[in-house]
Amino acid sequence: MPFIITDPCIETKDTACVDVCPVDCIHPRKDEPEFATATMLYIHPEECIDCGACVPACPVAAIYESVDATPSHQKDLIEANAIYRNGDADSIAKAEALVKGHVAAHADIMAVPAAERQAAHAKF
Ligand code: SF4
Ligand code: SF4
Repeated sequence: MPFIITDPCIETKDTACVDVCPVDCIHPRKDEPEFATATMLYIHPEECIDCGACVPACPVAAIYESVDATPSHQKDLIEANAIYRNGDADSIAKAEALVKGHVAAHADIMAVPAAERQAAHAKF
């Protein structure tokens, strides 16, 4: 499993990572119709080449380099990244359902502003 986007992306979604990804494996992009309704962005697990360029580009530290590096509270979002397929309504619905479940299950963390959320994970 390659790089994984997690919950600080929710409410941020600025696509800075999309701009630096050399293989265009982060979706939805701003020019894709799914962008308006997507709660966050997702990394295609088979297309990501593990280059690491997206990590320093993210202003809210939402991207982790591996399953092991992903905090325990965020591990439910690994599957959301894994199943999201742009243009496929069924996979999008499943990924978004996982994200909405994550938000509902972690109201304490989600109440923290996105820019501080990554640091807040250590406290919960
Ligand atoms: S690690 Fe590289 S290839 Fe993978 S999503 Fe980030 S920028 Fe794209
Ligand atoms: S740079 Fe970070 S916050 Fe912005 S879209 Fe990518 S993962 Fe989300």
